[in-house]
Amino acid sequence: MMTFLTGRCLCGAIHYRVSGPPLTVDHCHCASCRKASGAPFVTWFTARAFDVDWRGAPLAWYVSSVGAERGFCGRCGSTLAYRHDAEPEEIDITVATLDHPQSLTPEHHLCWREHLPWVEPDTLGRLPLFEGTKDNAIYRQTRRHSRGDSDVTMPSSSA
Ligand SMILES: [Zn+2]
Ligand SMILES: [Zn+2]
Repeated sequence: MMTFLTGRCLCGAIHYRVSGPPLTVDHCHCASCRKASGAPFVTWFTARAFDVDWRGAPLAWYVSSVGAERGFCGRCGSTLAYRHDAEPEEIDITVATLDHPQSLTPEHHLCWREHLPWVEPDTLGRLPLFEGTKDNAIYRQTRRHSRGDSDVTMPSSSA
């Protein structure tokens, strides 16, 4: 059975369908990915370029370094794609623009030497969890250090 990955940018002007499984799924922590996306790191899946069917508006491309181009929606700005002359038959696509991003599981951290200190697992895991924004918050207190305790959900005092 042929399975497809489908996705779209924020405004929906660009959408895509990928046939065939991704070659790899990775987080990239390089500074260029950060700048291009406005996020602390970007999760990419790599596909064979000829497996990707782009529809709707054409992507806008920005040459971010020699031989490398980043594709985005010229209307809403969503970061969509990355390609490099060294691998002309492959294209990277942002996992977060998939209709079902949970269908893929990241396999590696790339460019970890450039990562932000506060994306380290221990640091991220220590932060308080809010089910929504802080304003309408249900604060979820997770006791990570006492094994066997279940999560405790309690209303927060809105700060
Ligand atoms: Zn768009
Ligand atoms: Zn990167």
